[in-house]
Amino acid sequence: MKKVIILMGPPGSGKGTQARILVSTFGYGHISTGDLLRKLDKDPNADPEDKKQLAALKTGDLVADDLIYRLAFREMERYLEQGTGVILDGAIRTVAQAKTYQAFFEERDLTDEIVVIELAISDETSYKRLAHRKVCAACGFILPFSPENEAQTLCPECEGVLEVREDDNPTAIQERIKVQGNEALRPIIAYYKELGVVKTIDGEASISNVDKVVIDILENEA
Ligand code: AMP
Repeated sequence: MKKVIILMGPPGSGKGTQARILVSTFGYGHISTGDLLRKLDKDPNADPEDKKQLAALKTGDLVADDLIYRLAFREMERYLEQGTGVILDGAIRTVAQAKTYQAFFEERDLTDEIVVIELAISDETSYKRLAHRKVCAACGFILPFSPENEAQTLCPECEGVLEVREDDNPTAIQERIKVQGNEALRPIIAYYKELGVVKTIDGEASISNVDKVVIDILENEA
């Protein structure tokens, strides 16, 4: 199996959910820049200069590249040095970022170890999913909307408190779809298609169906 699995897709396409499943299935390291940024935001000892960059996190805009690289590359080094593969979840959101990550992989002889899984959904689905999901404050589990889940207040995995993410509000959702949705993704996917490493999956399907397809691709095709 490839050592570097890059999950791409609009917000709400299932990157976080699939990353968590793959981490528990394959024991890979989970590199979620969104999680790393939220952790930094809650850290009272974090560098105030870094904290200033986090305003973008609340509005749905992109956080500055240098902070993203510092957080993501340190985590990736940690796993790769131990020989553990990595799953990148939302860590690449522009072509410039894709190129910088590519240079990181080239320096470490990992260019043959990359697979990009594109979870394809429409911007409408993206909006609906973000507007209705809940997230566990303790472990990060994502509870999608369904009539059965509506009344749920505790995490089914760890019993932590479920909350609505600060940026899952209508204004920030619209901004995220604008800067991280299908239009923004197109050139990044094109960049990876040029490298011949993209596998596209219908992300509109159920979590378990998407999961089956992703695992099959990783084990047999990538
Ligand atoms: P996520 O949890 O992946 O939805 O990310 C939450 C927020 O973190 C995004 O809306 C951005 O503000 C920021 N963010 C996460 N990853 C990146 C990245 N690779 N580049 C820039 N901003 C990012």
